[in-house]
Amino acid sequence: MKKTRNTRQRGVILDILRESHEHPTAEIIYREARRVLPNISLGTIYRNLNFLRDQGTVREIRPSEGGSSRFDGADTPHAHFHCVHCNALLDIRIPPPLESVRFEEEERISAVSLVDLHVIGSCTGCGGAAAH
Ligand SMILES: [Zn+2]
Ligand SMILES: [Zn+2]
Repeated sequence: MKKTRNTRQRGVILDILRESHEHPTAEIIYREARRVLPNISLGTIYRNLNFLRDQGTVREIRPSEGGSSRFDGADTPHAHFHCVHCNALLDIRIPPPLESVRFEEEERISAVSLVDLHVIGSCTGCGGAAAH
């Protein structure tokens, strides 16, 4: 029984992540999940997010300057642009020259599972110069 419940909770969390392009925090996922599973706890959300992250299904994006982690359910490789003004986290494509780098040729790297590129600046909605 417990297994079934966990599977359902994970399914709800994954649906929320895959439908969102905002890279929600655990708290936002919690608020959304409660509409479907009113009894779910924030602890359960964290536990499932950690599980899905360790499994490689979900990416956790840790902000460079503190604040809550954001989560990403997209399964295609991409980089992130972070607006320092409005905190938006946008999906951008990995620049092809970077995509084709063979990191495994580096002496100390045996395998690469993810290239995690995080670009920081101002989005078009906020404009102006990047804050420092
Ligand atoms: Zn912005
Ligand atoms: Zn993303």
